[in-house]
Amino acid sequence: MKDIKQQSIHTQTVHAGIYDDVFGAIVPPIYQVSTFRFQDADHGASLFAGREKGYIYTRMANPTIEALENAVAVLEGGHKGLGCGSGMAAVSATFMTLLQAGDHVICSEAVYGPTNTLLRGVLSRFAISSDFIDTSDVANIRKYVTDKTRLIYLETPGNPTLLVSDIRAVSRLAKEIGAYLVVDNTFMSPVLQKPLDLGADVVLHSMTKFLNGHGDVVAGMIIVKDEEAYQRFRRTINQLGGTITPFNSFLVHRGIKTLAIRMERICQNAGAIASYLESHAQVEWVRFPGLPSHPQYDVHRKQAAGPGGVIAFGLKGGLQAGKALMNAVKIFALAVSLGGVESLIQHPAAMTHASMSKEDRLAAGISDGLVRISVGIENVDELIQDLDQGLRSR
Ligand SMILES: *Cc1c(COP(=O)(O)O)cnc(C)c1O
Repeated sequence: MKDIKQQSIHTQTVHAGIYDDVFGAIVPPIYQVSTFRFQDADHGASLFAGREKGYIYTRMANPTIEALENAVAVLEGGHKGLGCGSGMAAVSATFMTLLQAGDHVICSEAVYGPTNTLLRGVLSRFAISSDFIDTSDVANIRKYVTDKTRLIYLETPGNPTLLVSDIRAVSRLAKEIGAYLVVDNTFMSPVLQKPLDLGADVVLHSMTKFLNGHGDVVAGMIIVKDEEAYQRFRRTINQLGGTITPFNSFLVHRGIKTLAIRMERICQNAGAIASYLESHAQVEWVRFPGLPSHPQYDVHRKQAAGPGGVIAFGLKGGLQAGKALMNAVKIFALAVSLGGVESLIQHPAAMTHASMSKEDRLAAGISDGLVRISVGIENVDELIQDLDQGLRSR
């Protein structure tokens, strides 16, 4: 038998992180407990000193959480995972672990809205500076490197413009300048893209999206490459306190079992919908990594096994036309988030990216008329019919 690390993603998603429970439970049970009893005083002391393995307190470690952490680490080809209470808890714990006052961050301009505002609004108060730039061009990144640059942060494809950055090329630059490369892999999931294999130092996820996939959990995960990094991150998370709960770990672990087949279906559906939109007379432009019209189509094909399920587009008639569509669709739910089994539609300038200034949004390519959809696993003809009647209704 091959080690699970060598198995295909379809086997890994079902079996990773599943361990032999004392009662033979087929999936990890929910250890819904805050604290664990020590056998005696020496045992407690020995656990705290790290001389013995075991559980102490759920903010530090918990069997249900650990099962999920191990599962995602296997999928990403990493050493270990660190479960977090949300994707943003994973993002903030990563910055708090790797940065100190005086450091400089280079970040994709197309990035999840709160990641932008965390760097600009919160970490700037701790003397951490950042530049938000077009990271699809390595030569452009190089222009912003200073002797203080400690971290390059990529989201690829980026939210919501779906700009793609070349992870391998950026990782070479990061190594050359002695900076960490962190990749937010939320839009791809490890089924489609494995940033650690491409040279990233740290990968993180909003598991709220594809990994859980069922619209019922907010959670995050950080995946690191070695034990030293793991210990550093674990200390920060224990102290910041943004841990995931056992129950949410259970739900995400359950969601992951169907991740590979969900991604197949989502990529197929999204490909068909993107082509439909691109050929529609009322659609001005479409941005989707699976369309040859995408500016970094070749880079994306080289580093990812599929386009994902998020499509950005603009309608002739701009914002008003977009609003009319959002109000008219019936299967697509008008809601933020993405990566679930259900299709969603939303308006970044007024919703997910409303916390950014209009100036920053326009610089990042987020026009007021941009509409973002997240394609689910429904019947694709019915999804297209829904968009079609929505586009005709105005
Ligand atoms: C949703 C999202 C986040 C934040 O995750 P939460 O679970 O909502 O905190 C971070 N990055 C990307 C790309 C996201 O889509």
